[in-house]
Amino acid sequence: MIEPRPSGQGGPDACLRCGTDMRTMGIEEFRIGGTSGGWKLLFGEWAELGEQMIKFEMLACPSCRHVEFRVPAGE
Ligand SMILES: [Zn+2]
Repeated sequence: MIEPRPSGQGGPDACLRCGTDMRTMGIEEFRIGGTSGGWKLLFGEWAELGEQMIKFEMLACPSCRHVEFRVPAGE
């Protein structure tokens, strides 16, 4: 499914807010589960499966400083 982009610019990594190409900040590993309540807000039942490491690629927009996480390719 390809949705039209209203801004008409930017590639697959374009910022959702302003359309500027986002810069990857690398892969970060996060430990989820355990007692930290914040993860439960983000991941719900997934966080209750137990403590585990998950990887996210972090992207930052140099223009509006919007930050996005996505699952790295191949994970
Ligand atoms: Zn932006």
